[in-house]
Amino acid sequence: MSESCPLCLHSKSTFYSEDKRRVYYQCELCQLVFVARSQLISLEQEKQIYDSHENDVNDTGYQKFLSRALAPLLPELAEASQGLDFGCGPGPALAKMLTEKGHATALYDIFYYPNTEVLNRQYDFVTCTEVIEHLANPNEVWAQLLNLLKPNGVLVVMTKLVIDQARFKNWHYKNDITHINFFSRATFDYLAQHHGLSLTYYGDDVMLFKQSAIV
Ligand SMILES: [Zn+2]
Repeated sequence: MSESCPLCLHSKSTFYSEDKRRVYYQCELCQLVFVARSQLISLEQEKQIYDSHENDVNDTGYQKFLSRALAPLLPELAEASQGLDFGCGPGPALAKMLTEKGHATALYDIFYYPNTEVLNRQYDFVTCTEVIEHLANPNEVWAQLLNLLKPNGVLVVMTKLVIDQARFKNWHYKNDITHINFFSRATFDYLAQHHGLSLTYYGDDVMLFKQSAIV
């Protein structure tokens, strides 16, 4: 059985892995590893799980975790840049940290800050940390993220990366049932090339995209 890729929409994927709860496929084109869409939980179940997480805006461990996305972004920003934290969750710590650095950061989250007004304008930067692994429709959201950027805008994405099939089998990240898309460097390289973006990797899980200033 082959599933269409939810990211690049390519029709061919192959079996990648399976565990007690789910089957994982890999797209033959962009290499995304994904859960069969027939095995997704409902949005209500998803929200219940997020509600039980503790993402305290003042938690220093959480802030340290998010600073991995903040550190490569800050040198890219002009003074008083304006941004959006897409999928900020219930405790928007990253937006708070950016705002404290003088970069006003708007909030959007489908569950906690569902203010779609903020999606009708463009920003100097957009952050999307620990979000894209949850999306049922990553194709649409990726296009939306790019549309939210001003020319030469910066997009920071944070998600854990697939290394290989053997390590995937024992990967704690896939055992979170709200995680349904698993990206690798190959997938992000594909996205950068396909959309004409420059891409830099930071550490194990931070990707910084810039719209290439091609005249
Ligand atoms: Zn694909």
